[in-house]
Amino acid sequence: MIVMKFGGSSVANADRIKHVASIIKAYREKRPVVVLSAMGDTTDHLLEAADKAVSGIVDVAGVAQLHEDTARELGIDIQTVQLLLDELKQLLTGISMLKEISKRSRDYLVSFGERMSVRMMAAYLNSIGIPAKFYDAWDVGFISDSHYMSAELLDDVWNTIPSHLDGYKNGTDDAIPIVTGFIAKDAAGNITTLGRGGSDLTATMIGAALSVDEVQTWKDVDGIMTADPRLVKDAKPVPEVTYEEAQELAMFGAQVLHPRSMLPVRKSGTPVRVKNSYNIESPGSIIVEKHSGKVPPVCAITSVKHVSIFDIVSTRMLGAAGFLAHIFNQFLKWNVSIDVIATSEVSVSCTVNTKADLSGLIADLKNVADVNVRTGKAIVTIVCDAAHSSAILASGFDALADEGINVQMISQGASKVNISVLVDEDEADRTVTILHKAYFG
Ligand code: ASP
Ligand code: MG
Repeated sequence: MIVMKFGGSSVANADRIKHVASIIKAYREKRPVVVLSAMGDTTDHLLEAADKAVSGIVDVAGVAQLHEDTARELGIDIQTVQLLLDELKQLLTGISMLKEISKRSRDYLVSFGERMSVRMMAAYLNSIGIPAKFYDAWDVGFISDSHYMSAELLDDVWNTIPSHLDGYKNGTDDAIPIVTGFIAKDAAGNITTLGRGGSDLTATMIGAALSVDEVQTWKDVDGIMTADPRLVKDAKPVPEVTYEEAQELAMFGAQVLHPRSMLPVRKSGTPVRVKNSYNIESPGSIIVEKHSGKVPPVCAITSVKHVSIFDIVSTRMLGAAGFLAHIFNQFLKWNVSIDVIATSEVSVSCTVNTKADLSGLIADLKNVADVNVRTGKAIVTIVCDAAHSSAILASGFDALADEGINVQMISQGASKVNISVLVDEDEADRTVTILHKAYFG
């Protein structure tokens, strides 16, 4: 058995859905469980519709048209999708009357994207003679906590998923399951979502719980690349990475996989393959526990923009332990997560993503420390074998110095597979390009 996951752009229109159906057909012998995202940018459009509804305007025209047109082009019966569109309109009308929306209602609202896409794919597959059955994730055992918009799956799913998909696994049910990514239900029966990009987690969770041979996530590129191919023309596919490296890549800006998606497969040891839907023959990249051959010194380079550096210097005679504990407690209190950190006895520098309002946090920190915030920064991360960190740092920093790039902070992650450097945001792309050239020629 395998799991095949297709993201939004892979099912963005009728032609793409047909193409995905042909890939599923090609893998039919392997008994796939298919996981789908919402069509194209539907999730974004639903979130926009929610904001509009709060201001009193009900507008689902764009989303409705995309799904109706696509169903027509695929030549499938649209009844099940129409029911959902009606329900969606009712929900938006309710929101527009209340002029407010809770996180719970927002999750209910965005769930329509995935629920519509699985219905269309199952109907299309059946129409071309491939037995398929659509499932909302909760109908195959996806149960989560109630942290709306970023719910965690409960441990029960390790049992509930196999028990729901048992018939397909043991061959008594032949219809290929087409399952919604991204969504679940909490114990009270409310719909939850697993965080943006969460379909990857749905796929790896199913794969791990069913101990499949392989989880495949299908993209538009040849797997994981040594750098963002839009930035670096010479970027190459990386044939093999470890779960740990993949997790670092996801956390530090590579748009490959949802950061949390590695957790279940790390537990079960299930391999994950990132494949190119435009190049089916290409093996793509495989994500495994350990490198099969020699560990490559550098695996890939990523970047994250819109970062601020906090330089925090103790103004009190606190011992180092007390100082750090106090500082981190303030971040916890304001729910601001730190990405990269470097410390000395009486000072600490750390980075945060700048989307949040940080004024309360800064005021609290200033009670015990001098705080200087530098905005407009970027984190460039070298995912590498830290056993070679001296050599990697030497050649990378040489290249950056030659090009006049000033590194403002550096940190080597505890996971031992990441070296992060902080640079000015407007130099981030150039930094990636220079490092890529230094490591990959
Ligand atoms: N449709 C959701 C999103 O756009 C989930 C996913 O694509 O994985 O975030
Ligand atoms: Mg999406």
